[in-house]
Amino acid sequence: MRVVRTGEELRAVLEPERRAGRTIGFVPTMGALHEGHLALLRSARQADEVVVLSIFVNPLQFGPNEDFQAYPRDEEGDLELAEGEGVDVAFVPGVEQMYPPGASTTVDPGPIGELYEGAERPGHFRGVCTVVTKLLNLVQPSRAYFGQKDAQQVAVIKRMVADLDFPVELVVCPTVREHDGLALSSRNRYLSAAERTQATVLYRALVAGRAVLEQGGDPAMAENEMAGLLASVPGVRPGYAVAVDPDSFGPPVPGRPVLLAVAARVGRARLIDNLVVG
Ligand code: AMP
Repeated sequence: MRVVRTGEELRAVLEPERRAGRTIGFVPTMGALHEGHLALLRSARQADEVVVLSIFVNPLQFGPNEDFQAYPRDEEGDLELAEGEGVDVAFVPGVEQMYPPGASTTVDPGPIGELYEGAERPGHFRGVCTVVTKLLNLVQPSRAYFGQKDAQQVAVIKRMVADLDFPVELVVCPTVREHDGLALSSRNRYLSAAERTQATVLYRALVAGRAVLEQGGDPAMAENEMAGLLASVPGVRPGYAVAVDPDSFGPPVPGRPVLLAVAARVGRARLIDNLVVG
């Protein structure tokens, strides 16, 4: 596995692969790798001839009062895991490499970026779109792999790739969960043992919301059910609990799948999760 830290090094390593006509699979991450990230790497390893992983904690997608400084970082451990998954190239740029002095252009995600995660984290999706644009331009992959865990991020990036004609195929991989349903997240490292137990309410709320829909209830009933469950656990501070269309994040469309999405704070972790129904 080659570890590269600059765009020039990355281009030099990938250019011969592209010239030889090999497909490049790309998995962008912020590191602190867990089984969710590894599942993306395995999908890429299966489908593509060259697998590129990026590890970059992107300051642009964190708000001023968010956890950019505290975000877990473990480059050595991450590179070991990546090596074990057969990654060919790990791109680990510094902040000054990605945003040199004077960098000022950003990518606006449009209306989906203002809702839910975007409303609670102003500027978050602009940061995501900007860094994903830069990474896709640097790596120029055939396929890029994203997790369903971040459903709104998937919707925003799908829209951006279609609207701005990025020549890449997006592959969305299922959410990897613990045995009790808790979605794996780098931020789970913030949870104490008691908070870890409380955090299972996100998945339990989604399952209850799904049951409401499957029994013929409407989206508003599913939202009430999920909000009630989130509010019922002491120590959990509910954020949103919504039933939306998975692509537009607007109201669900009859005959199409419904996305149930929840967010909550548990201890100092802000957690999100979702389920697609139908
Ligand atoms: P992050 O490092 O949190 O920015 O995540 C990098 C990629 O891994 C994103 O595409 C996430 O959606 C994906 N991911 C994170 N957690 C999971 C999970 N539990 N299951 C599947 N994919 C995940």
